Amino acid sequence: MDLTLPITEIKGIGEKTAAKLHKIGIYTLKDLIYTFPRDYANYQVASHISDIRPGKITVKAKIKGLTTRKARRRNLSITEGIIYDNTGSIRVVWFNQNYRTRQFNEKQEYYFQGVYDFKNGRYQLTSPSAALAHDIDSQSAFNPIYVAHNTLKSPFFVKLLANLRPNFAKIPDLLPNSPENPPFVKQGARAEALYQLHFPDTPEDVKKAREYLAYEELFEYILAAKLNRQANQKLNAPPLKFNAKDTREFVKSLPFKLTDAQRRATWDILQDLEKSTPMNRLLQGDVGAGKTVVAAIAAHQTAINHHQTALLAPTAILATQHADKLEKLLTPLGIKVALLTGATKHKSELKKRIKSGEIDLVVGTHALLTDDTQFHSLALCIIDEQHRFGVNQRQKLLLKSPDGLAPHLLSMTATPIPRSLQLTVFGDLDISVINQLPAGRQPITTKIIPAINQQPDLYPQIREIIKKRQQVYWICPSIEEDHIKETTSVKRQQKHLQTIFKDAKIGLLHGRMKPDEKDQVMTDFASHKLDILVSTTVVEVGVDVPNATAIVIMDAENYGLAQLHQLRGRVGRGNQPSFCYLITPADHASSRRLKEIEKSTDGFRLAEVDLKLRGPGEIYGSLQHGELNLNIANLADTHTIALASKYASNFAKHPDNMLKYKELSHDIKKYQQLTTLN
Ligand code: ADP
Ligand code: MG
Repeated sequence: MDLTLPITEIKGIGEKTAAKLHKIGIYTLKDLIYTFPRDYANYQVASHISDIRPGKITVKAKIKGLTTRKARRRNLSITEGIIYDNTGSIRVVWFNQNYRTRQFNEKQEYYFQGVYDFKNGRYQLTSPSAALAHDIDSQSAFNPIYVAHNTLKSPFFVKLLANLRPNFAKIPDLLPNSPENPPFVKQGARAEALYQLHFPDTPEDVKKAREYLAYEELFEYILAAKLNRQANQKLNAPPLKFNAKDTREFVKSLPFKLTDAQRRATWDILQDLEKSTPMNRLLQGDVGAGKTVVAAIAAHQTAINHHQTALLAPTAILATQHADKLEKLLTPLGIKVALLTGATKHKSELKKRIKSGEIDLVVGTHALLTDDTQFHSLALCIIDEQHRFGVNQRQKLLLKSPDGLAPHLLSMTATPIPRSLQLTVFGDLDISVINQLPAGRQPITTKIIPAINQQPDLYPQIREIIKKRQQVYWICPSIEEDHIKETTSVKRQQKHLQTIFKDAKIGLLHGRMKPDEKDQVMTDFASHKLDILVSTTVVEVGVDVPNATAIVIMDAENYGLAQLHQLRGRVGRGNQPSFCYLITPADHASSRRLKEIEKSTDGFRLAEVDLKLRGPGEIYGSLQHGELNLNIANLADTHTIALASKYASNFAKHPDNMLKYKELSHDIKKYQQLTTLN
């Protein structure tokens, strides 16, 4: 079976249907077959109505008394009825599914499957799926359910795939059939897995199928990363000679002693820079670990080799802070530092100086990426908080090096990367970890406070802090009131806090303010013209105000652990003990997730928990934008990842493999684009 055939070749798919399928990314037979069920309806577990308990249920029953009415809220229609068998009856409700009134024959039995629980003052079955019992009983009792896309509902996919069923046995192998692979990658394993996934008899069939398919997916992903790494080795970068004397002098001139972890990371980087192949290194270090100074040493090395460095930061505030710090460190050595953000005046003049090579280090925001920012000899790109940038933005920066040369790339992140992600998503990067905080840092005490207890448990402590002439961040999730989500807004919170802390100077910061307004507020906070800064998460990244010793996070249950950890990292930067208060509704106060952050200041551990509970998007924001679309594999599945990594390594050692395995090499091109330096 030729999986590359366009779906229009399938009997029963006309032009109109094809167009709809194209819209959801299904072009070929393979795309269709790799559209996996999102769940399975198991009608074997149907209960009598008298036996059901709240939760997900399946019943075989008749339906009567269906009516539809408009709800008071516009755009909502409610269809209600009674479903019953000879043991009892329950109420059923659908929203915005008017067709349900016409769907049923009162004389027939149906399988209803959905969640039965207490809502609006009574028990009901809400929005169940319904299937004619007669149809189901004549097939397997364990049926796939596909994600519905507008008019393409699950039964459409069921039917389409059922038509292809006889051909499944002819699906060719994808992975090399060699004794090096794990035992479940045997001949015909793929065809069998795909068959079992779409047409299983039991949950065990699905489990086995998923095991193989997850392996296949991870193998491709990891192989792509390994091949990228090989390709990277074929690029040319300007080698930057290690100058021991000048570097030592620079390090000596720093206002503090480097930690051992900073020294190790610096050494990794300086060695990379000496090579004529581009560095592709991720510098990972918890908030406050001191990554900036490591970047400064790399930029220094680049400058004394007469090349330029670009440092990209996600916000103007952060870029400005970096530029200030780096200028203080580097200007005394005759290295020219410039800041380029949207708010920079006389941009074209500055760009001329960048192009002429007069500027050694440009620190900037996205403003740096425009086509008219050109360099004389860009040899090092540093991207701070790299997960804030998409693939395209990274690419744009890298393309600014002189023709034929690739710059060295140093990405920095405060988000710890669990090992499974290191092997997969970041498999083509070298990683240095700063796993040690500078000496003398004060611990941060974290406390969960139910919203209703703010008056007695929080306000007195904040008053104390302000009295000690220290400062407070107050984080709220939204800018304006949002009645649907009922989250706290910065604007309202600022007013409210002013009534509580009457003498305090309270500032406001959010993403919809103009860049120079934001900078002004941030500068005011940094110079202690403000006692409290009420802000959205725009302060999350990087900013450094050592006199801020408390951070209050409203509606804390809305954030991932990694993000809470980042926010918490805004305090504890000076030599005073610091506090982080997480405000949540009473019923969230005991949630396991929030307890984790109360217990632990280990960002690495928190990231692992996040990965398990909320998936990789939480850790790597930009991956949510469709960059990492794992179909079936789970990035918390470290066992399969380790296995796939081992075999992908062996496979990548033989270049002709990529010619031999055509489908595989076609697949991984797609993944390769995600991280390539090319
Ligand atoms: P991050 O890794 O979060 O980006 P920064 O680079 O902003 O951290 O450093 C945090 C603070 O710690 C800065 O004020 C910096 O000057 C200071 N710092 C960095 N390294 C050291 C060190 N070895 N000893 C003491 N302070 C340090
Ligand atoms: Mg930083």
